[in-house]
This record gives sequence, C-alpha cells and structure tokens, in this order.
Amino acid sequence: MIIRTKIVATVGPASGETKVLSELARAGCDVFRINFSHGDADSREAYLRNIRQVEQDIGRPLAVMADLCGPKIRVGMMAGGSALLAEGQELVIQREPIEGLTGRICTTLPELVDEVAKGDTILLDDGKIRMEVIETCPPDELRCRVVLGGVLSSGKGVNVPDTHLTLSAMTEKDRRDAEWIADRDFDYVALSFVRSADDVQALRDVLDATGSAAHIVAKIEKPQAVARIEEIIAVADVIMVARGDLGVEMDLPAVPVAQKKIAHLCQKHGKPCIIATQMLETMTDSATPTRAEVSDVANAVLDHADAVMLSGETAVGKYPVGAVRMMNAIAEKVQAYDDETTSVTRVTYAPEPTTAAVAAAVREIIALEGISAVAVYTLTGTTALMLAKNRLPCPILALSHDPSALRRVCLYYGVIARQAAVPTHTRDVLAIAADFARTQNLAKEGDKIILLAGRPIHKPGKTNTLVVHTIGQEQA
Ligand code: PEP
Repeated sequence: MIIRTKIVATVGPASGETKVLSELARAGCDVFRINFSHGDADSREAYLRNIRQVEQDIGRPLAVMADLCGPKIRVGMMAGGSALLAEGQELVIQREPIEGLTGRICTTLPELVDEVAKGDTILLDDGKIRMEVIETCPPDELRCRVVLGGVLSSGKGVNVPDTHLTLSAMTEKDRRDAEWIADRDFDYVALSFVRSADDVQALRDVLDATGSAAHIVAKIEKPQAVARIEEIIAVADVIMVARGDLGVEMDLPAVPVAQKKIAHLCQKHGKPCIIATQMLETMTDSATPTRAEVSDVANAVLDHADAVMLSGETAVGKYPVGAVRMMNAIAEKVQAYDDETTSVTRVTYAPEPTTAAVAAAVREIIALEGISAVAVYTLTGTTALMLAKNRLPCPILALSHDPSALRRVCLYYGVIARQAAVPTHTRDVLAIAADFARTQNLAKEGDKIILLAGRPIHKPGKTNTLVVHTIGQEQA
C-alpha cells in the first residue's frame, strides 16, 4: 500500500551516513531536515551531499529542509556545568558574558535585558525552571525570582512567552546561514520563532536576493504567531506546528487545540502542514513507542497534516529507522479509516482558483467512480499541492521535468514524484502517467486514472483540463 502521509526526518549523528539515510528513505522518509541549531558547516555539507547521493542510488526525489535557528535564546556557560536554583531565591541575568553561578547568569542574547519587562515570566530548560522578573535594572541587569526551581545546566533554552521581542526572527547568523543555504540545493528553509508575516518576508527577501527558489516553512512556536496565524499562513509556503517550543511558550494543554486550528486553516489556505516534535520521543532510547505517542501520530494524520516529523528520534536516537517504520505503520493504519470517515475542508484562498476548483472536482469524481490514481504534469508543483489538499483516497502522480519541483512535492500528502520529459501534448502526459501507474502497480489494464493538465501546456498556473482515462486505451 502507498502511505500518503509524508515523513520528515531530522538528520544528525545517528543518521547522517549514506547507509542510514538510505534505510530511512527506503523505510518511508520523504524529507530530510538539517537543523542549523546543531553541528557546523562541514557536517551540514556532508549531510546534504549524502542525501543527494542516496537520492541517486534509490532513484526517487528527496526533499531537504534547512532549519534556521532564529532568535533561540540559551543560557550561557555555567561554572562546573550546572547550578541548583532554589524556589524563592533571587537570580540576576546580566548583559555581559559570565560563567553562571546560582545567583547570576548570562544568556546568548545580551539584548534580553532590554526587552523584558517587570512581571514577565522567564522559562529555563523547556519550562522546567520558571522565574518572574521582579526588577529591570537598566542598562545591564534583570532581577528575577525563581518560582519553580531545578538544576540549570549550560546552554539550556530560555523562553520569554510574555515578552514581545522587538528583535527580528532573522538573526545575523540566520542571514549568513540563509545565504549559504541559497548557494546549495535545499528545497525548503524553515524559519524559527516566526511572529508575523514580516518575519517570513524578511527571509523571502534574503532568498530572492540570492536567486534561491527554496520554499519557506514558517515554524509556529510562539503564542504571537498563533494569534496572527492567518497572515502568516497567507505568506508562508508551508506551516510547521513546532510543538517543542510552542508547548513551552503557551499553556501546554492548549497546544492540541492550536494544532487542530492551525491544520484546519492550512487546509483552507491550501498550504502544507507539518506536525512536529516528540511524536515518538520514547524511541530515542527505546525500540517501541508509548501508546500515547502512537495515538499522537494517528491524530496528526486525522488532523490532516501533510507530514509528520521526527527530531531527536532520527538525529541522535538509537532507532532512527525503527522510528520511521513505526510512523509509516501508524499512518498506514489510519489511512483507510480516514478515507472512509473524512470530510475535507474546501481550499478557499487559492492563488489559482481554477486549479483549486479542478482539484476539488477530482475529489467529487473519485467519490462516484473507482479511480486508481490521479496524474498531473506540474511545472511548479501547485496543482499537485491542490490535489494533496483534497486528501484524495488514491496516489497523486506528479510528473515534471524540473528536479526542484519534483523534490518540493515530496512533502505533499499522497504525492509521488517522477521525472518526465517536457511533453508537447496532453496525450504525451497521459502515456507517461499510464506507464508510471502500471509500473508502480497502482493501476492495471482497464483501471481508470484521472489526468489533469493545463492548456496551453507550458504555462504555469493554467490547470484547466480534466481527463478520465482507462488504462490500455492510450492510443484510442
Ligand atoms: C520545535 O520547537 O518543536 C521545533 C521543531 O524546533 P527545534 O527542533 O528547532 O527546536
């Protein structure tokens, strides 16, 4: 069975060699994420090279996503590696670097002392330690009271959920990284801690200036982004529900509802949605996930995510391939149930309304007539995306001559990409699609497939033709 939910796997020391990457791809991974919060340029270059090697070896396009750090704030070095912060004690955060002690620390963001106000909450180590700012002492310090204590180690994350940081979501490091990424064949660039459409535009400007066609993934991990989600969805190419930081920055029990709302809005706006973080966390160390994790992956599929993501499970975990296999197996079990029970939210904000309308018509036809696959010759991937957002109960064959379009569509629900020569007529596409469907065992003689095409055939955004075709009648 073709599993239509896509899997994004984060590459790291546990998975960066071609052998493991190849096993991950064969197990069902479609998109590899390289996290710029870790490693160095050499290791990232090696990961990218290895993924492209595997892509050639297995003869199937693979997408690669670069994930920029954004303004992630971290605790500076602690003397002796860590210190115990007791509930009720005071702690000073200072601008200048210092080896942290129980009563005084610094962070990787010197400007934090300018941005935070009295009464704001500061969370350390994913919210395990909670502090309240009791006094701002300009220009160089903040006095805080520890509300929830714990052991604080060097480099732990700092979150300021109440603070409206004036800093751009793109740091100087992100700009340098984006330029580096633009020179290489990455398909997606993810931006962390997005708060507004302007943040997405700032990355778009850098990519445009360098001539990169990489698509932008807006990571939703701040309450401010949830509040302005529609404007962000409108400008981003892809949305990621980044539940790791989101679960720290907002009330944790509110995250599942935020996930459902974001996935639903992505549907209306015809944008791909990735659900990320801690999906199979237990599999970082254990060969089996918890029941709750299995349910979480299943529910993400039922929320109509295009893709589900693995982070530490594949980057540093003991069972990277097992985690991908497990995700695929869960998606497989949910797929048939989803096909029977789902009602699909109509895409209402498509940039190409005719394409969206034709894609919606495909869903109606499939409800009335047995269709084995839907094929499209796509120049940019847009028609494939519109079909994906209709949650079709059969595979979508995306044919293109453009390798970057083929790699991009790897993220979209149900889409299988295949290189094809530039056609001169719709019947060329039909012949390639019929052959592809047969060789992939998706359709046999007498089965029906649907072909979508645009006329004139080489103009992007002109999908206006729908053919219901019986396999074997290519010459008729
Ligand atoms: C997250 O916070 O959920 C996330 C995906 O981001 P990162 O892995 O970069 O922390």
